[in-house]
Amino acid sequence: MAIRKLRYEGDPILRKTSKEVREVTPKVLELVDDMLETMYEENGVGLAAPQVGVLKRIVVIDVGEGPLVMINPDIIKTEGEQTGDEGCLSVPGKAGTVTRPNEVTVRFMGEDGEWYELEGTELLARAICHECDHLDGKLYVDVVEGELRDTAMPEDEEE
Ligand code: ZN
Repeated sequence: MAIRKLRYEGDPILRKTSKEVREVTPKVLELVDDMLETMYEENGVGLAAPQVGVLKRIVVIDVGEGPLVMINPDIIKTEGEQTGDEGCLSVPGKAGTVTRPNEVTVRFMGEDGEWYELEGTELLARAICHECDHLDGKLYVDVVEGELRDTAMPEDEEE
């Protein structure tokens, strides 16, 4: 496992469409492990492969209920609406208001190569939408309502 270098807004790779994963190879699993490690290191709720410079349709999410790995995720149903704060590891130190569905159903391939369906609500629904957007080259700053705000500096900032 290794921490991968994050890509930040302005990097053209974040605007590209990621490719489907045809097969869960050892290389794909290594990428997944590295993405999880990078997400936890950065205290993120989710991370998409293009954010570490890899144009593959893979996202990892942990909203505090354990890690979720989704390969080739596809949102097949959405319901309701929620408006709340959102941030992104590729847009550090900022947050903004975004309206998302309150409930989503997502179909995805797991690390075992099998297909699954998952229903997520509230923060998990928001995270799924946000991360899937990354796979199509979209960032939350495209759909933010109003201005981006500066977020408070974490207390352990001084090194
Ligand atoms: Zn993001």
